Amino acid sequence: MEPDRETRREWTAATTEFVENFVAGLENAPASDLERRPGDFGAPPPEEPGELGDLLARFGDATAHAVETAGPRYFGYFPAGGLYTSGLADLLATIVNRYTGVAGPAPGLVALEHSVIRWFCDLFDLPPGAGGVLTTGASVATLSALHAAREDLLGGPDDRGTIYVTEHTHYCVAKAARVAGFTADAIRVVPVDHALRIDVGAAAELIRADRARGRRPFFLVGTAGSTSTGTVDPLADLADLAAAEGLWFHADAAYGGGFRLTDRGRAVLRGVERADSITFDPHKSLFLPFGTGVLLVRDQQRLRAAHTASGAYLQDFNVDVGPDFADLGPELTREYRGLRLWLPLHLHGVAAFRDQLDEKLDLSEHAHAVLAADENLVVPLPRDLTVSVFHSPGGDAATELLAKRINATQRIYLSSTRVAGRFTIRFVVLSHRTHRPHVDEALEVIRAAARV
Ligand SMILES: *Cc1c(COP(=O)(O)O)cnc(C)c1O
Repeated sequence: MEPDRETRREWTAATTEFVENFVAGLENAPASDLERRPGDFGAPPPEEPGELGDLLARFGDATAHAVETAGPRYFGYFPAGGLYTSGLADLLATIVNRYTGVAGPAPGLVALEHSVIRWFCDLFDLPPGAGGVLTTGASVATLSALHAAREDLLGGPDDRGTIYVTEHTHYCVAKAARVAGFTADAIRVVPVDHALRIDVGAAAELIRADRARGRRPFFLVGTAGSTSTGTVDPLADLADLAAAEGLWFHADAAYGGGFRLTDRGRAVLRGVERADSITFDPHKSLFLPFGTGVLLVRDQQRLRAAHTASGAYLQDFNVDVGPDFADLGPELTREYRGLRLWLPLHLHGVAAFRDQLDEKLDLSEHAHAVLAADENLVVPLPRDLTVSVFHSPGGDAATELLAKRINATQRIYLSSTRVAGRFTIRFVVLSHRTHRPHVDEALEVIRAAARV
């Protein structure tokens, strides 16, 4: 189990060779390959050792049978190509295998991760007492935010606690509520306006009516870039309402958060800096590999108070070298997550991320205009960040067929949703590997499929 130096070099070289072929092949790889029958991926491990070459080949086979989410012509869901340098960071982090669930055993690496979180707090203009934790994604971050809000404002579980969302809020809020023990009637679905943004006046009326009926409104959610359409709620107005009514304002910036680096994004996301908690997925708008989320809380003490715990088995490391990650979320043991952010941010520099996001905004603006000008397509909504939606003028069946025809080309991959009940196709520019030629190719594929 502990290969010698020569074997280590050999295996690392073989792995590097695989990775090199994969990355170099992305430019021309099919956008999806789901038709092929899956191979035999279910074989149990053998009693005797296998061959790394064979195993890499099987891994390659399993990898190919997929949507090419790492490639430049992936425009579905939220593309996150996965930074190569995050992969290098993960290799380093797992091989040194430091324990970072609590700060004591590896205070240096914990401080390094806190420096990334502090940088995120600054990016969102949160005050000095702010803090947070890296999670696997926005779903877990949202659960911690909801739990912290309930502890802080309701003093723990309370059947009267009430949460405010819209039909376009990501389902992770309802899921978190369910996991936290709320029943469905704890959730109020606030109406939206014609552009799908939360109707803040309607939210205010619901909150007051609920309170008059003896409920305890406590959690108001604003979405900074919705999953279906990329729509940004009026965050500053929501912050005002939350302040006036004494609610916890949670901003879901899972998709939109990274755009805070750009001038245009800052303008669109105005008000997010007043949130009590913010979820943000670097595995969306910072191009990181899947499994990288952030929870930021305006007052870190509130997050810590909600999650802190102690056990005699941890007494050796009861030293105060900064907040333990275990006290800021549900996990104790975790992989060392900080390096997959720290290394790319320091190696590429922040301007590289800003430039990439500005490029995505430009590309999305261009794509939106081209789609909207096509007489065979309907573009029903404005574009806030880098999501455009469209459908066929022929109705749902025609749109569904259009989506199938586009993806069947295997040149690009798009995903779909429903907007106001209507089958709708999404076009999202977000991968760091996507540039003008890829967008032009995509527009050509879409327009050709719509002409049929
Ligand atoms: C993706 C997304 C989520 C869920 O995030 P995960 O990282 O998949 O858990 C929540 N909110 C919004 C707006 C999203 O786009």
